Amino acid sequence: MSEALSPAELLRYSRHLLIPAVGESGQLRLKSAAVLLIGTGALGSPVALYLAAAGVGRLGLVDTDEVDASNLQRQILHGESWIGKPKLESAAARLREVNRHVRLELHAVRFTAENALEIARPYDLLVDGSDNFPTRFLTNDAAFFLRKPLVYGAIHRFEGQTGVFAPHLGGPCYRCLLPTLPAPGSAPSCQEAGVLGVLPGIIGSLQAMEALKLILGIGTVPLGRLTVYDALQSTFRSCKLSRDPQCRLCGDHPDITGVSNGETTAPACCDFTHNPMQSITTTELRALLAGEFTGLLIDVREPDEHAIARIEGSRLIPLKNLPDQLGSLPRDLEIYVHCKSGMRSAKAVRMLLDRGFTRVRNVTGGIDAWLADPI
Ligand SMILES: [Zn+2]
Repeated sequence: MSEALSPAELLRYSRHLLIPAVGESGQLRLKSAAVLLIGTGALGSPVALYLAAAGVGRLGLVDTDEVDASNLQRQILHGESWIGKPKLESAAARLREVNRHVRLELHAVRFTAENALEIARPYDLLVDGSDNFPTRFLTNDAAFFLRKPLVYGAIHRFEGQTGVFAPHLGGPCYRCLLPTLPAPGSAPSCQEAGVLGVLPGIIGSLQAMEALKLILGIGTVPLGRLTVYDALQSTFRSCKLSRDPQCRLCGDHPDITGVSNGETTAPACCDFTHNPMQSITTTELRALLAGEFTGLLIDVREPDEHAIARIEGSRLIPLKNLPDQLGSLPRDLEIYVHCKSGMRSAKAVRMLLDRGFTRVRNVTGGIDAWLADPI
């Protein structure tokens, strides 16, 4: 524990010290805090830079990748002279330049079910900057068993989402959002789908902010709420996410008893990265429907909701009826699923993917986003 701030630290953190809710005691909390960041890539870059700049005392970094020229468009921790060298070394050099007061702990190993608990245990909270589903599940499960908050973030093309999972404090875990791994090939990799370079800067910065809030104990922890950012629409949406009583990890009758399980030990190949599922924005859907639409649009809301407002041409199949209707759905057409805000439809998409449908996409933001779109 650090007893006081040095004159150099008082000067460095003066803009924090001016904020009554932070002050010197808050800065000392930051100095005493230890954060583990999984990944020093697109999301990890802004997270690491801001946490180091803010004076988080101990920052653990996990990564085994090397810097590639194609990283530089978005992974702002790394520069040209580091191409071909370990990201961890590049990150450490940059972060030491940002703030020499921060103790960096470099874990140059793959984050696996064998070492996750051991690596994460000495930290106060975890920040997920990973780019693949098995690591996301592993980070979630490790945080759950260690009873530490997890700051989650994910990006895809023009859209990103972030939230805090901490079932020990209330609210859901990542598995309540995504119970199982998406079918291989059902979610595009970053290499296939792309991502606009600024997007991880925005989502990673939001993650860094939530980490600071958790450490400082200020504001509201967004337990049970996902923030979804749509860059094309310039909108932030806050989606409710409840704990799933059926969740295999944090539910009422869990059957996952350790961090080594089917999801966390799956190969972290780039077949599934960055997006929990394929999605389509309402803007993209509107453009599709305006053309020669050959797919199927399913509304999984209830009949009374459908009666109030609907997207022309949609087929109403309430979520609870979907399992009985699977036989009537075409497997050779693109299927788009929407609900009110995108959560029930996400469950429907997962159900369809689990049942072998491969051309399924979730309409981001649901009919709420559809109605809010400028036409
Ligand atoms: Zn859960």
